[in-house]
Amino acid sequence: MTTSKTLLILGASGDLTERLLLPGLGSLVGGGVEADRDLISGLRIIGSGRSERSRDEWQKTVKTAFDGVEAKGATARALIESAEYVVGDPTSKDDLMSILGSVEGSLVIYFALPPAIVSKVIQTMASVDLPDGTVFALEKPFGSDSRSAATLNRHLLKLVPEEQIHRVDHFLGMSTVLNILGLRFVNRLVEPIWNNQNVEKVEIIYDEDLGLEGRAGYYDTSGALIDMLQSHLLQVLSIVAMEAPTRVDPVDFRAATAAVLRATSVWSGAPMLPGTDAVSRRARYGAGTVGTRKMPAYASEEGVDPSRETETLAEMVVEVNTRRWSGVPFVLRSGKAIGEPVKQVVLTLKPVGFVPSGLTGSASPERIVVGLRPPTLTFELTLNGDGDPFSLARHDLATTLEPSPLTAYGEVMRGVLGNDPTLSIRGDVAETCWRIVAPVVNAWKRGDVPLEEYPAGSQGPHGWSRDVTE
Ligand code: NDP
Repeated sequence: MTTSKTLLILGASGDLTERLLLPGLGSLVGGGVEADRDLISGLRIIGSGRSERSRDEWQKTVKTAFDGVEAKGATARALIESAEYVVGDPTSKDDLMSILGSVEGSLVIYFALPPAIVSKVIQTMASVDLPDGTVFALEKPFGSDSRSAATLNRHLLKLVPEEQIHRVDHFLGMSTVLNILGLRFVNRLVEPIWNNQNVEKVEIIYDEDLGLEGRAGYYDTSGALIDMLQSHLLQVLSIVAMEAPTRVDPVDFRAATAAVLRATSVWSGAPMLPGTDAVSRRARYGAGTVGTRKMPAYASEEGVDPSRETETLAEMVVEVNTRRWSGVPFVLRSGKAIGEPVKQVVLTLKPVGFVPSGLTGSASPERIVVGLRPPTLTFELTLNGDGDPFSLARHDLATTLEPSPLTAYGEVMRGVLGNDPTLSIRGDVAETCWRIVAPVVNAWKRGDVPLEEYPAGSQGPHGWSRDVTE
């Protein structure tokens, strides 16, 4: 088989590769469209890591991931049978040269490595030759603050141009996040009201029932604010709040999301989080039961250093200082070990301000609820005429959308292999996202915002946003 492209995964023995990258690639093989076959045709997957692993074991890992997403047939078989594994430490120049020595054709390098290792590898790469046109895919977190992100950007740009750098945020590959584009821009019912004249508040919530799942090494130094709000939820915000791009392409789409994030900062208006004057708050879970699962307190999970006071639930309010959104609070929230978790974007509309007398009952605020998982769309309206023709009551117009055949990482792989960075984060935007959360990070470091506690399986501390909105 002639190899025209190599996908080199550094850190191939890790969790991301097995759980998300390879299944994503498999979903592209199994569920992609005709154009995707060109991306995959002639592709060879080279996994690399310091851990010993035979070619057979690696091929088995690829096959298991592909089987899990029903990727079968000749293309899947060709990918599995041509997959190679090269043992090596990518931070060592000699090892890196030997890893790169097995590459054929054009090259995509996926950095599935812990963030601290990524910067070392980038520096090592400066001393070796990379094939022309090499594409880089880098995971979040990208740096640890705006300064380190800027340094990483500078180092990267010495190796490859910006168009060949994919800063991955797989939330941008979620079909439910992308659905917001159609909902917002193609419906006369929705487009004219998507602004501060009509919207009272926007909430972007991504709660999970999962706890730490053995990832203390990463999570305990990151926490909910950095793991979720600084990255994923700000990207969702950028799509909710952006102006319509002329095209969904790397230039216009990313310019529109960048512009909105540049206008975003922590909330400066009257207090918005119920029960506190702060613009952010944090908590971590204690022991409890989520569904039927007993969960130990976060602080007693293996690998956690309780003195770090890492939060497992974060809320932050930001404002988007544009003509469209000025004055509207955007509440971002994400937590672990939450009972009955929701993952959704909610727009609460302003009251119309007048109810004809003769209609009884109250008009509850209209809400547009975009469910991110499962993919749903609900318009919560107040109607009369259900039974009593003069009585008002809330009714939902709801639909469930078909999920995409591609996983979010399938969408990421499509972009990376086709070198289409539309759904990846531009270098300046990666820095901007750190700038947005910096005041919150600093306030938490100073101890200005107490770390609260909630029992695993609850919806967070009493009086927090979910308690009040639902
Ligand atoms: P892991 O901690 O599992 O590390 C991945 C691999 O990196 C390891 O298997 C190891 O391979 C290699 N590695 C670890 N330390 C070193 C070192 N000192 N020098 C060289 N290689 C090293 O990370 P994940 O797979 O969980 O995550 C990878 C990246 O993806 C991170 O940036 C993470 O934030 C991001 N990410 C992860 C998600 C997940 O769910 N896992 C989700 C979204 C993003 P070996 O020992 O064989 O060299």
